[in-house]
Amino acid sequence: GNVLPERTSSIEDRTLAGLLPDPSEFEPDVCASRNHQPHRKNYFQPSKELISRLRRYEVRHRECASQARNFFRTQKRGKKGDCRYVVWIGYSGLGNRLMSLSSAFLYALLTDRILLVDGTKHIGDLLCEPIPKASWLLPPEFTVEWLQALNESSPQRFRHLPNSTDGGGKLQTADFSYVQLTHTSDHRDESFFCDESQDHLESVPWVFMKTNNYLPPAYYFVSKFSADLAALFPDREVLFHVLGNYLFHPSDMAWEWITRFYRSYLSDRDRLVGIQIRTFHDSPLPHFAEQLQQCILNNDLLPKVVAGSVPKPQISGLRGPKNGTTVLMTGLDSYYFDNLRDYFLSGPTESGEIVAIHQPSHEGYQQTDIISHDLKAWAEIYLLSLSDTLITSGWSTFGYSAQSLAGIRPWILFRATDDKMPDTPCVRATLAKTLLGVRNWLMSLHL
Ligand code: GDP
Repeated sequence: GNVLPERTSSIEDRTLAGLLPDPSEFEPDVCASRNHQPHRKNYFQPSKELISRLRRYEVRHRECASQARNFFRTQKRGKKGDCRYVVWIGYSGLGNRLMSLSSAFLYALLTDRILLVDGTKHIGDLLCEPIPKASWLLPPEFTVEWLQALNESSPQRFRHLPNSTDGGGKLQTADFSYVQLTHTSDHRDESFFCDESQDHLESVPWVFMKTNNYLPPAYYFVSKFSADLAALFPDREVLFHVLGNYLFHPSDMAWEWITRFYRSYLSDRDRLVGIQIRTFHDSPLPHFAEQLQQCILNNDLLPKVVAGSVPKPQISGLRGPKNGTTVLMTGLDSYYFDNLRDYFLSGPTESGEIVAIHQPSHEGYQQTDIISHDLKAWAEIYLLSLSDTLITSGWSTFGYSAQSLAGIRPWILFRATDDKMPDTPCVRATLAKTLLGVRNWLMSLHL
């Protein structure tokens, strides 16, 4: 048996209200995490349009995935109805990868392409295959070396090329396109989000995409995507939540780790509070530990410990009620964990409630592409997503991914700075990034 808060076994529940394909379409005994969907209190249902688009997508994926090997023989311009692909290239940390993977998948849905995934970074070891009777992994003919050759200087890089004579520009054309939308991209790469570029790409059968960004907000600026997006996602705030719940199911290896940890430390509780610490600093910052404590106490996220000396200590035996709050803390460092645990061991809480704090790992530093490291990162993102309340760190896609899977609005700690704590330690966020912020960026394109 599995002691995660499981959904019942009705088809409605096992498919997350129709989001996932019928379970009988998948091989039995594969992907326990999909077969034992945890109950998410804040699950948002998909629209009918999205459900039918996904079913259509799955059929198309089965038709086209097996033909992907032909890439090296034919890269001819596609005719209408031919298979067309978007290939996601693994880049950056795991939170970034989950964001970019859902961005690439949405691009596939909007452009009638199928998504293939660069398997050289063991994404296949972390996630289950999402499409029944087909694989989403790029065939092994696309070697690490071949994919690495797609970089800033590759001739297939898709960008708007300035033309000095008439002040206008042209789009780079090639048999396949390499789209690079990373933090080093410039406005010429970002021309990807212009109508003209999307018209052009329609006849390009293969689009390779490398990004560490969450692209859906920018898709709304492409005229031919916007009506479609409005129909597929009437509530744009839940877009990442819904796509994440469709795509990201822990592999059996990851699921074993998740359930082992959950059963050992998290199952015996009334409430689970997730805290994700990411400071982007190598050494511990005492004022950030203080900031976390202020955020918790100012907003009543955990019970307060009685201040000063306890007037009448309640000395009792070792037995006592086990219920209370469990805190799941994640971070690369154990400093913030020790600090918060010390606080809760320093005296009784005002309500008498027990607070138990656990941190699964403290890996020290980011070690992306080492499987045992990535496995813990994924397991922790997933475990955080089972929280009832979430506190995450600003600037971090690790926490953002957990928040989106959960469908809850977290408290976000302002990014840690070198020397002092901000006046406001944290704020309550919206559910997902929407258009704000992206607008300014797009307006700066001047294309
Ligand atoms: P971001 O850099 O915070 O936006 O998040 P990413 O997930 O993209 O990259 C950070 C990477 O550092 C993760 O993927 C992990 O490899 C590692 N990391 C950061 N925070 C944690 C943590 O709390 N737990 C674990 N296990 N790894 C972490």
